[in-house]
Amino acid sequence: MNFELSSEQEAIRDAIARICADFDDAYWLKKDREGGFPQDFYDALAKSGWLGICTAEKQGGAGLGITEAAIMMRTIAESGAGMSGASAVHINIFGLKPVDIFGTDEQKERMMRPMAEGREKACFAVTEPNTGLNTTQLKLRAEKRGNTYHVTGQKVWISTAQVADRVLLLARTTPLEEVKKPTHGLSLFYTTFDRDRIRVREIDKMGRKCVDSNELFFEDFQIPEEDLIGEEGEGFGYILQGMNPERILIAAEAVGLGICALRKATQYAQERVVFNRQIGQNQAIQHPLAKNWCALEAAWLMIMKAATLYDSGKPCGAEANAAKYLAGEAGFDACQQSVMTHGGFGYAKEYHVERYLREVMVPRIAPISPQLVLSYIAERVLDLPKSY
Ligand SMILES: Cc1cc2nc3c(=O)[nH]c(=O)nc-3n(C[C@H](O)[C@H](O)[C@H](O)COP(=O)(O)OP(=O)(O)OC[C@H]3O[C@@H](n4cnc5c(N)ncnc54)[C@H](O)[C@@H]3O)c2cc1C
Repeated sequence: MNFELSSEQEAIRDAIARICADFDDAYWLKKDREGGFPQDFYDALAKSGWLGICTAEKQGGAGLGITEAAIMMRTIAESGAGMSGASAVHINIFGLKPVDIFGTDEQKERMMRPMAEGREKACFAVTEPNTGLNTTQLKLRAEKRGNTYHVTGQKVWISTAQVADRVLLLARTTPLEEVKKPTHGLSLFYTTFDRDRIRVREIDKMGRKCVDSNELFFEDFQIPEEDLIGEEGEGFGYILQGMNPERILIAAEAVGLGICALRKATQYAQERVVFNRQIGQNQAIQHPLAKNWCALEAAWLMIMKAATLYDSGKPCGAEANAAKYLAGEAGFDACQQSVMTHGGFGYAKEYHVERYLREVMVPRIAPISPQLVLSYIAERVLDLPKSY
């Protein structure tokens, strides 16, 4: 068992940190106020090839593992870029995993290379307004006529749809009433985001203003059959393949943001003097911050365990879910404690920690809620009856 990063992993962390250093608190505060995709940040990572960190070398990537990607995403969030920075590039890193596993060679080349090189952006459209976390009940319908699928229906919360060139879409190709199991009859597509046939309405949300989330309305949106990934009707199984790496990466982002908030809190606790002493001299200030450090470190160890299992081809569902849960909660606790440590100034935008608290809600809620992670662990690890 080795708890050290390798020299290559340290080099990745340091290189990412150097790029992020050009995008300081003032940059992200402006983005938080004004919105607008952080294109210059995205371009800086793309220019040095980092968006293809997990993509195979054959398709222009670096061919590294989810462990290295987790180190990269933690470093981005930890720099102060938070979820604004991490979510801007998140899908380029892991999003096309189902294409990598189930796509044809032609699809891999056509779809993965532009994402790895940062020439294209994509969004991932699963969630629907009336389905929630019960993904098998998805209603958005793709009906095949000739060589084309015709899509009608709605999605919600789809991030980066304002700027996406492509969409990775999960749609029902066989109606629920006609399938033996609800997991059947869903199909996965990766196709051009046609703005004439998809109406996009941005959701005004709590944080991460510069990375949009949207309602999508599909009105006879057409997908050529060559953009179907794998077999028709098997899409649900395909997206499951991408879920563990997604949970690992989002957990790494939550830990990064938590560490960033903790750093701001400890700095402030050393500088701020009240009752003629540094506030950080009080145990009531120290102990919650020390607990935050313990929880963040523990979450990071679980992330590294899950990533190591994934990269060696072993099952990692329990660890990836546990990592996502632990990191979401530890990140949230650290951001909240950072605001409290700053007292009234924690509420002021110029101290940045209120932004972290708003942003850390994203990895807590999405892509799966803490309740559903715990239900999964209860059922799959503890062998208790399924509760949902
Ligand atoms: C900022 C942001 C960005 C997002 N980006 C994307 C994206 O790019 N693409 C995409 O497809 N989706 C995206 N999502 C959607 C996200 O994945 C969902 O919001 C999330 O999966 C929760 O689904 P829901 O909102 O429908 O919650 P619901 O399923 O409606 O659940 C509501 C609450 O009830 C609880 N609950 C439900 N059933 C049970 C049960 N049986 N037992 C216990 N508790 C239960 C849940 O845990 C949750 O707390 C994004 C969401 C946010 C907030």
